[in-house]
Amino acid sequence: MKIELHKISLTFKDQKLFSDLSLNIAQGEKVWLQGPSGSGKSTLMKIIFGFQQPNSGEVVIDGNILNARNINAIRSGMGYVAQNIPLPKLKVGRFVDELIQFEANRKLGLSKDVVLKTLEKYGLEEDVLDKNTEELSGGERQRLGFGLLTLLDREIWLLDEVTSGLDNNNAKLIIKEVEETKATVVVISHDKIWEKLNLKKIQINE
Ligand code: ADP
Ligand code: MG
Repeated sequence: MKIELHKISLTFKDQKLFSDLSLNIAQGEKVWLQGPSGSGKSTLMKIIFGFQQPNSGEVVIDGNILNARNINAIRSGMGYVAQNIPLPKLKVGRFVDELIQFEANRKLGLSKDVVLKTLEKYGLEEDVLDKNTEELSGGERQRLGFGLLTLLDREIWLLDEVTSGLDNNNAKLIIKEVEETKATVVVISHDKIWEKLNLKKIQINE
């Protein structure tokens, strides 16, 4: 799926974050959003996912302008992983069950075994399923979120600091998945390890 931003503007109180920002990310393209801390990278990712409304301008996903009616359908083609993403307050196991039973995911026929194997790959043992989502550390949330994303067959991956605080092995696993996926990928990260992938760099508010 391709991502287009058309003349996005957004002001918080009196802080003008974006003013007529336009950019295109082609189908299958992998980009690295860069810019100083506070420049709006995370906010831009939320705008693409429909978690933040711009004051003006349009987000166009595969030719469809995002709006209140189509956001759920379009979002089900995207995966967004960030440390502070709101998770429902329940056991991780329930969360996983609900996720694999969710309409847009049911067709994948994911079993609990497959999920467990994937979580194990990212260093999460079966007992993580008995934890409450709010008990997870930032790193556990990232690994859970990213592991699940790789199973869900999403065409757009939005990855906000998914390797921060992870050990080198876990970070390498994530980078390898990003290298191999056919999805369109947007990365935000301070980790130099991403240099290996030759992602196209996009500067925000230099
Ligand atoms: P980055 O990810 O590049 O570090 P952010 O997108 O997180 O930057 O934030 C950009 C700026 O917008 C920051 O100054 C932040 O405080 C502000 N900001 C982000 N979200 C909100 C919000 N919902 N309300 C008010 N200000 C916000
Ligand atoms: Mg950020």
